[in-house]
Amino acid sequence: MISRTLETRFESLSVNDNKNDPSDGKTTYLKSKTIASLSTQLSQSSNQSNYLLKVALENNSNSPLRKPAADSARSKGSEESADASKNSYPTSKAPPATPKQFHLGMFEIGRPLGKGKFGRVYLARERKSGFVCALKVLYKNEIRKGGVETQVRREIEIQSNLRHPNILQLYGHFHDSKRIFLILEFAGKGELYKHLTREERFPEWKAAQYIAQMAQALQFCHKKHVIHRDIKPENILVGTHGELKIADFGWSVHTPSNRRQTMCGTLDYLPPEIVRQQWYSAKVDLWSLGVLMYEFLVGRAPFEDSVVLTHRRIVRCEYDVPNFVSREAKDLIAKLLVVSPEMRISLEELQEHPWIVKYCIDGERASMRKSKKTSGKCSSDSPSNQMISGVSE
Ligand code: AMP
Repeated sequence: MISRTLETRFESLSVNDNKNDPSDGKTTYLKSKTIASLSTQLSQSSNQSNYLLKVALENNSNSPLRKPAADSARSKGSEESADASKNSYPTSKAPPATPKQFHLGMFEIGRPLGKGKFGRVYLARERKSGFVCALKVLYKNEIRKGGVETQVRREIEIQSNLRHPNILQLYGHFHDSKRIFLILEFAGKGELYKHLTREERFPEWKAAQYIAQMAQALQFCHKKHVIHRDIKPENILVGTHGELKIADFGWSVHTPSNRRQTMCGTLDYLPPEIVRQQWYSAKVDLWSLGVLMYEFLVGRAPFEDSVVLTHRRIVRCEYDVPNFVSREAKDLIAKLLVVSPEMRISLEELQEHPWIVKYCIDGERASMRKSKKTSGKCSSDSPSNQMISGVSE
């Protein structure tokens, strides 16, 4: 199974090839006015949006991430044996119950939302329900050339089975001969990285609420034996209500054994155990959360330096926190950036830390937000309907 080409893997999934879809040729580009009203509709209407979710739920009913207990009986140790994607679609005996089939003709395509290394992301609307989503188009030959078949498979298998307000939802996927299409939740406020660059650094109340949301999302992942392994601002999007959405699961892994030894992720955010190529566990995400918290408050990563020096500073845990950072925030950073993984604060303890409690539970903003019933426990901005303008091809 591992040696099967990407094409073959996707052929084994129950998807429609858009070549066969008579409505494919009718794909149109949304006009700006239409999409602006769609965006409002997205934030107001939950009924219509249920359609894609229902379809996605039907399609994912056989996922191994829904049955962690059964998974833990599977072989442990090697990377591929622990990979969720390997077990997701039974090959012969028990095919998934006839899934609903997605195809390109089901969508109207709007403005480009962004460009990644292997494709583009467009605003899209499902014709039947009017549901607004993001359609990520990946080119199979580029994925093959880049040797990232495994990452793409992981992104699809893992992300489509994690349903949490702070995790970008993957509703489904389909393909044609050249492309793979991922139907994603639309994150109305774009990349967190851009917000951080614009603001230079976040005020403590906002950083605390963001960290609390990340902690809740990671707690949910870890309970399902998923380690993210690549937490950084570039992999986080911001939803319409200002809530964070972990978006990139390309480096994540489903690991019932809870122990791994692959070097991955971005150097600035890597914990000492990965830099040293030792065995590691879900605690890697706690270290990265510490780096993220530091970057939110200071505006740069704590170990940023030349490659050699970053490496050295990480394994020695050498960093300085500027004086403008509060004592409570420094204390939490120090509890996350601990060389010994077992000594790092847990996600449960983090959520009870005085710095988090101050801004997410006791804080005036938090109580205001509670009454407004936003999606996460804590969110960062006042809810607003985002209007999108200037839609064009
Ligand atoms: P990616 O290929 O996933 O790195 O996506 C490229 C860019 O498209 C991102 O940096 C975002 O600006 C944008 N983007 C991706 N997914 C979404 C989404 N679900 N909602 C809004 N914008 C997105």
